[in-house]
Amino acid sequence: MVATQILASGGLWLSLNGTEILVDPGPGCIVQSTKRKLRPDKLSAIILSHRHLDHSADINVMIEAMTQGGFKPHGRVFTPADALETEPVIFSYLKDYLEGIEILQEGKSYTIGNISFTTPVRHIHPVETYGMLFKTDGHTFAYITDTRYFEDLPRIYASELLIMNVVFLNDNPPADHLTVSDASRIISEAKPKVAILTHFGMSVWRARPWEIAQRLSQEIGVRIIAARDGMKFDLSQLDNI
Ligand SMILES: [Zn+2]
Repeated sequence: MVATQILASGGLWLSLNGTEILVDPGPGCIVQSTKRKLRPDKLSAIILSHRHLDHSADINVMIEAMTQGGFKPHGRVFTPADALETEPVIFSYLKDYLEGIEILQEGKSYTIGNISFTTPVRHIHPVETYGMLFKTDGHTFAYITDTRYFEDLPRIYASELLIMNVVFLNDNPPADHLTVSDASRIISEAKPKVAILTHFGMSVWRARPWEIAQRLSQEIGVRIIAARDGMKFDLSQLDNI
């Protein structure tokens, strides 16, 4: 999907009570965000779930944009340690532009302004990978980034809104990623108010993610949305469910 850009790969932009946070700046993030009038210089933080290219490719340019080429140093980067070790994905000269780099670890909590998040568990994925559970003044939501399915996923990420990366259509996936039936199981057990499916691989895309989302919604009785490029979701929608 990254190679064709049939769907954009720029990541998630959170705007939470005035705190702007960028999650997983994949290839094209600088192009997609500026095109949509999102202001990198307003970011307080960039969170990297793991070092894979489709999540991290634009992290350096986004640090430059956040800090205006280093002339306005600010902001923090949150990343697993292995993204900074051999073959680091963040250029060392950019570290001086930042307030700091914080290392994500299993079971730890972090704060950014009035937002807090935890990285409850290390995922099953070829590199060090963490999903996130966010807490704002009024809401909780989770981002289940790349992982193979495991027993505790629904319980760990139970929250009002579940955002999850669904790469494969069929069971027994050839790589450590969630499938459509994994997503179905997680939503059925975690029972969020709303679930957003994203990060589709080609097999999911060919099966029309919006039709998959509609079918699962009917089966499970939870509102399920297939993400689109540039889609916005307002957390206040959760108040009416
Ligand atoms: Zn990955």
